[in-house]
Amino acid sequence: MPARAPLLGLSRTTLMALVSSWGFKPVHAQRVWRHLHAHVRDDFESIDSLPAGLLGRLAGETTTAWLPVAHESASRDGFTRKYLLQLDDGRQVETVLMRYAGRVTACVSTQAGCAMGCVFCATGQMGFERHLTTAEIVAQALHVARALAPTGERLRNVVLMGMGEPLHNYDATIAATHILCDTAGLALSPSRMTVSTVGVVPGIVRLADERQPVSLAVSLHGATQAARAAMVPVAKTWSLDAVMDACRYYCDTMDRHIFYEWTLIAGVNDGPEDAHALGRLLETQRAHVNLIPLNPTEGYAGSPASQHAARAFQAVLVEYGLPSTIRQRRGIDIAAGCGQLAASQTERHDQPKG
Ligand code: SF4
Repeated sequence: MPARAPLLGLSRTTLMALVSSWGFKPVHAQRVWRHLHAHVRDDFESIDSLPAGLLGRLAGETTTAWLPVAHESASRDGFTRKYLLQLDDGRQVETVLMRYAGRVTACVSTQAGCAMGCVFCATGQMGFERHLTTAEIVAQALHVARALAPTGERLRNVVLMGMGEPLHNYDATIAATHILCDTAGLALSPSRMTVSTVGVVPGIVRLADERQPVSLAVSLHGATQAARAAMVPVAKTWSLDAVMDACRYYCDTMDRHIFYEWTLIAGVNDGPEDAHALGRLLETQRAHVNLIPLNPTEGYAGSPASQHAARAFQAVLVEYGLPSTIRQRRGIDIAAGCGQLAASQTERHDQPKG
């Protein structure tokens, strides 16, 4: 029996081709698409004048696959809600709804676990399990959109910064961004969709070569090869020089800036000398630096930089003409750092990984 088509992973063009191959009109495919992606509903029988034959084909030959919630928690400040969503094979991934200054952002995972092994990251400490499909990535953003429906708020921003390295799962990730930006669906602006990488050089170059319109964030954490490699093992594969070459190529090709992410860890990379090293590295780049005090994890002994250290770090960057933002640690009480909720659930329910 042929596999059922995962509806949420089909582009509008592919869905229209499928519906047409079944002998139904493009207008019917358009209605199905809008019901799923604009109204975020899958009760196709409620769509006006959809042929019964098409309803039967959809029921028998496709899956919608909203992801069930295995665990949900809200932060005390009410700004952050974290979902642990269940995949078909029993694995679980994290999706986070964040509210900042009236904007709603969904932080979405692209892999179960992660192969990159960043030492301070709960997902990295879990190891790699598998890539998510396009449908599973899209389903996370639609889950947040559905959760917002009763409040009248609209999802406007998606950051691919949850569990996993998006550029290690390039094809599924980029296909998902196209679906979420489709103007007949959720209609997110590509510039409000941010792909975050820890420095997968071939992926950065490919984003530029393909002129993908999404925004790009590159996690540095260290401004010398040695400092970065101590925190980000993948730096041994793609050196800091190679990452910066790729970033320059990206900025020149795309004519846009890059967000650089810097996790501030007390006594590790939050000193003035670290800030000067970062300033020297980026002073000729089109860059915006996001400074993020560490979300502590059980598997890493480091602690977050103080507000004072963060402000001093930022003041040094000003000397180099670098704009920056100190990002607030939201949802620390619900383990809202990447991978923390999934890791804590794994520890609770499964054997720890060796
Ligand atoms: S920080 Fe990102 S790239 Fe690094 S291990 Fe965690 S999920 Fe993977």
